[in-house]
Amino acid sequence: MKKALTRPLKKLGLYHPLQSAYRAALRSLSGTWYRIQYRKQSGKGHACNFCNQRFGKFIPSFPAPENAAAIEKHHVIAGYGANIICPNCQSTARERLARLCLDHFIHPAGKKILHISPERKLSPYLRSVADVFSADLQPGFYRDIDPSVQMVDLTKMDFSNGQFDLVIANHVLEHISNDRDAMLEIFRVLKPGGRAVLQVPYSTKLSDTIESAGISDPCWQSAMYGQEDHVRIYALDDYMFRLEEAGFHVKVVQPGELLRLSDVAQQPEECFLLVTKPA
Ligand SMILES: [Zn+2]
Repeated sequence: MKKALTRPLKKLGLYHPLQSAYRAALRSLSGTWYRIQYRKQSGKGHACNFCNQRFGKFIPSFPAPENAAAIEKHHVIAGYGANIICPNCQSTARERLARLCLDHFIHPAGKKILHISPERKLSPYLRSVADVFSADLQPGFYRDIDPSVQMVDLTKMDFSNGQFDLVIANHVLEHISNDRDAMLEIFRVLKPGGRAVLQVPYSTKLSDTIESAGISDPCWQSAMYGQEDHVRIYALDDYMFRLEEAGFHVKVVQPGELLRLSDVAQQPEECFLLVTKPA
């Protein structure tokens, strides 16, 4: 949407409803197109753990040209590649990985969950089995996913200590300048023994995280970090160090183990970090 239009629409309270309606219409159209285009792939190969359909190939997704250089240069595992989007329900690889690991390692049923930036397929699943508080710094973006989403700043939350069994902020911390504050807050609001799903795009080639505090220049961020609203590219080892510094125990579930665990369509190179607040 043109920037000149954005401000007046926000003032009138129409910006987020219009965006939601636009996204829903686009999803409906593309969903019909994908189901037709991929019908010959149906019934065999990889599975989707949201709709339980199988497809020989899922829909690939690749970065926009302005983002591609940084992602390729640093070999960032960022949710791009083959078999990313389910042709039937449009679940994404990052949602399928989160659900796979939630179901296998964490067992969310009956738990009290804080879900930051709730995802379209993951959110209704979690709300069907658990007590979920959905939140984001800009809740308007997520009202079409969960109408009850509340405004929460992950770096300074109003929740008292030890309120949640599980915090999910899936691909969120790479957007936050003071990510260490957010990690400390997540640690604080978790119960002892609580778990967190805190996947981020990461590089195993970088020895240090590259970042700029307080940056707000979308073109530069695309060129440097591979997305217009990212403030860093994490080096995987440094990301784990930051989580451990905040007090967490971090166990890496390697891609090979994830692939052996299930035939759900996944990115073949992505590991899962099982993040735990010590009991
Ligand atoms: Zn699906």
